[in-house]
Amino acid sequence: MYKSIIIGTGPAGLTAAIYLARANMNPLVIEGPEPGGQLTTTTEVENFPGFPEGIMGPDLMANMRKQAERFGAEFRTGWVNSVDMSKRPFTLQVEGQGELQAESIIISTGASAKYLGIANERENVGRGVSTCATCDGFFFRGKKIIVVGGGDSAMEEANFLTRFASEVVLVHRREEMRASKIMQDRARENGKISWSLNRTPLEVVAGDMGVTGLKVRNNETGEEELIETNGIFVAIGHTPNTKFLNGQLETDETGYLIVKPGTSETNIPGVFACGDVQDHKYRQAITAAGSGCMAALDCEKYLEGQPVHDWSQSL
Ligand code: NAP
Repeated sequence: MYKSIIIGTGPAGLTAAIYLARANMNPLVIEGPEPGGQLTTTTEVENFPGFPEGIMGPDLMANMRKQAERFGAEFRTGWVNSVDMSKRPFTLQVEGQGELQAESIIISTGASAKYLGIANERENVGRGVSTCATCDGFFFRGKKIIVVGGGDSAMEEANFLTRFASEVVLVHRREEMRASKIMQDRARENGKISWSLNRTPLEVVAGDMGVTGLKVRNNETGEEELIETNGIFVAIGHTPNTKFLNGQLETDETGYLIVKPGTSETNIPGVFACGDVQDHKYRQAITAAGSGCMAALDCEKYLEGQPVHDWSQSL
């Protein structure tokens, strides 16, 4: 029986663990199949404050984990199959760990970027294939970049990447786009963006030095084409990792957990959410870490039997 179980070990979960461990709450942290989260799939992180020379994503996460362990956080590895939130204590069924119980739960399972599922894509993540323009755009200064997708994320990433790139080619599998008109207009007005519509990505082309191009099918002619590039940004959406919750917590229409504004509280008292699983907007390591801190402080108050937030104070 734990006072608190934290599910997920990205910057949100590990920051929550550091805070709860320092508050003598002895949290149990459950690591899933991708310990450290999305940052472990990036190379250098240059925008996490406190590292003027940058830090490798996996090193940053290893440091956070060490910091949490130093204050007494316990770690176990296993896939959380289900969580029963209908009665207290909460009960978790964890692969390889059996049944675990906790007075409170912090959910920090993140969101997974969707990939195209084409040949050579996964192998070249960090070698030219990326799902995060904010993280990796800087590495493509003066180069031609491809952005794949036709939603708001693709428009946003394409616009952002023109700060660095000599040219951004937006590749989308249809003529019409899902992106809102305002985001499309902004991209269309950007002279550095060119459009390669009606093109279905087929294969990432890469050599010893990384990505060299993207093979696509022209859906009008049926012919294959090669677009030369060193950088392919896949911007076809994210999926929040909430399946194991089985619909017990409120989500928005795209599946992200809903927290009360300005807090980490979900609709079930004692269950808190932080990081990308409740944030489709900022999705940065530093904002995830900040929300992890909020979740730990909210959780501490809850465990002390105090109201997590005194709403009368904000009226
Ligand atoms: P999205 O709206 O679901 O768009 C995904 C795009 O990727 C679609 O154009 C889709 O093509 C394409 N796609 C999906 N799977 C593909 C595949 N296997 N191969 C090729 N193309 C594929 O996702 P999103 O752009 O990430 O946006 C998600 C939500 O966040 C939206 O509600 C959006 O408005 C919001 N958002 C808002 C902002 C903002 O307001 N600043 C910024 C980013 C995101 P099809 O259209 O052909 O299916």
